[in-house]
Amino acid sequence: MSQATAPTGVDQDEEVRKRILVIEDEPDIVRGLRDALQFEGFDVEARGTGAEGLAAAMDWAPDCVLLDLMLPDDNGYRVCETLRQRDETVPIIILTAKAQETDKIRGLDAGADDYVTKPFSVAELIARINAIFRRQARLVSHSDETFTIGAWTINARKHVMSKGRTSKRLTFYELEVLKLLRERSEETVSRDELLEKVWGIQASPTSRTVDNFIVKLRRKLEEDQKSPRHILTVYGLGYKLVP
Ligand code: CA
Repeated sequence: MSQATAPTGVDQDEEVRKRILVIEDEPDIVRGLRDALQFEGFDVEARGTGAEGLAAAMDWAPDCVLLDLMLPDDNGYRVCETLRQRDETVPIIILTAKAQETDKIRGLDAGADDYVTKPFSVAELIARINAIFRRQARLVSHSDETFTIGAWTINARKHVMSKGRTSKRLTFYELEVLKLLRERSEETVSRDELLEKVWGIQASPTSRTVDNFIVKLRRKLEEDQKSPRHILTVYGLGYKLVP
């Protein structure tokens, strides 16, 4: 924020437009998303099948993927898993008509970072996308950051956590949750604060999102997930990191 802006900065920003890939087969939704996202200044490509979407994700290198779960040729979860195997860090937001909690968890387990339930508010979706890009910009400005939790060393630039010869990838939101908890080490951070600062949203109904990510992080970090030593639950309040 306090950094001086070079005169050419604005032009550069305008040249480097963020790319959003929409994998969705409903023409009306595609049209609405394309219009709204282009209006926001994003470059948009849309594909109507999982196969075409995966190909475009490889060829076009999007900065964010919006993925419908019900595609004509393939199960969206499988598309999500394939996408995640090929690209560990690109943010994936699932567009789902399925409001069931289990479906959302399944989506997150498949490697998605977030989800919106149809019919969704385009304004909220755009707010979440913008929050992702703001956090990424912060990440780049702290690009050499590494920190430790227990025996793990977390490299924020590489999205990798390592211990001895073992290393694991961290997705965008997993890393953001860890970073916020770590900034506030030994303090309780509420679900609402995590939602607001990491996801850029204030909606409490989705606070299970936070819990789901905590489960995923514990799976990666903790020796014993059932009695975690680093990411602690503070009952009724939130979570606390003990590095
Ligand atoms: Ca569909």
